Amino acid sequence: MKSPLTFPDALYVHLPFCAALCTYCDFASEVYAAARAQRYLDALEKEFRARLGALKESSADTVFAPRTIFLGGGTPSALNIPELRRFFSILKSQVDVSRVEEFTIEANPGSTEPAKLDYLLKECVNRISFGVQSFQPHLLKLLGRVHGASQGREAVRMARAAGFTNVSIDLMHGLPTQSHDDLRRDLDEALALETDHLSAYGLIYEDGTPLKTAVEKGTVAPLPAIEESAHYSTVMETLERGGLPQYEISNYARPGREAQHNLVYWRNEAYLGVGVSAASFVDFERTVNFIAMDNYMKAAESLGNAIETRETLDAAARARESLILELRLARGIDPNEFASRWGTNPLFDSNVVATFFTEGLMEKTADGRIRITRRGMPVADGILSNFV
Ligand code: SF4
Repeated sequence: MKSPLTFPDALYVHLPFCAALCTYCDFASEVYAAARAQRYLDALEKEFRARLGALKESSADTVFAPRTIFLGGGTPSALNIPELRRFFSILKSQVDVSRVEEFTIEANPGSTEPAKLDYLLKECVNRISFGVQSFQPHLLKLLGRVHGASQGREAVRMARAAGFTNVSIDLMHGLPTQSHDDLRRDLDEALALETDHLSAYGLIYEDGTPLKTAVEKGTVAPLPAIEESAHYSTVMETLERGGLPQYEISNYARPGREAQHNLVYWRNEAYLGVGVSAASFVDFERTVNFIAMDNYMKAAESLGNAIETRETLDAAARARESLILELRLARGIDPNEFASRWGTNPLFDSNVVATFFTEGLMEKTADGRIRITRRGMPVADGILSNFV
């Protein structure tokens, strides 16, 4: 007989509104409009009730009390205070937040204001992640960001002044026309702002985005691959020197400030995702909600449940997926702990690993962990694709 499941320790909520759409973005997001936000929050409430009702029916637990909550999007800070108030009342009617250790909100510097920050702190949000992307005006323009360079700095200072003690900044690298000096200036600014955590993402030209169309038309020239790779190394070295060692392919933190919520994903642990396009991994079933906003809202309004796809992973698939996720971490994996958690360790019988060892792209540490080396990190996605 299948044992009753326990609630996941992590909750993700997708709030999909933005002041304007960035040129590189293919997330489930749309330009903020009050009536749409109202309808979305109504739909979200229905989904919360339906999802948690179903979980309670099949669970040994009666209360959903996650350890981490992450509000992502979109730009959750695009909602005004009355809308945020409504959101938190929905959340707290369904979720016990008393056990939450890390409660993150993503914010755009353009929609950051002291009253909103004060309100979020009162609601127990204790970590804020700013989508700064760059402090260089020409790059912000290229990316279609709504905020200026000074707003990025101001937002971080405002959050500190309000009382946030855990602040993260997102930056991008490998951007068209981004020089090495541009990148160094961005990294130095982030370090000068004493960020606790930094996510540094290499630009991906996603299908259907204005930036990709511009590249296809020849009006924007991507950075040569060799430059992109040099950017990655500069990010690693500069942040490490600045006291933020790399702990994941794209993430750097002061020791103790690693993102606890994201570690749940990389450890392939269970999480519940609510909202348009949100993914969940509960009881070894991976589900993804409707990605198109109208489909999501119609499904949530009529059924509560807005799941578009479901996949139950067998033991071998779980082990493979977990390996790919956990090898993203700079600390790598403990092969024995991995084998006892997942019943197998695909690395044990992989010839590919031996090749990566020889090439210096993977290594075994003194305490027996297996990890991607610093040399391998810039090409980590290519390495991991061999374990799919
Ligand atoms: S603010 Fe974020 S979610 Fe919104 S369009 Fe820009 S990148 Fe996408």
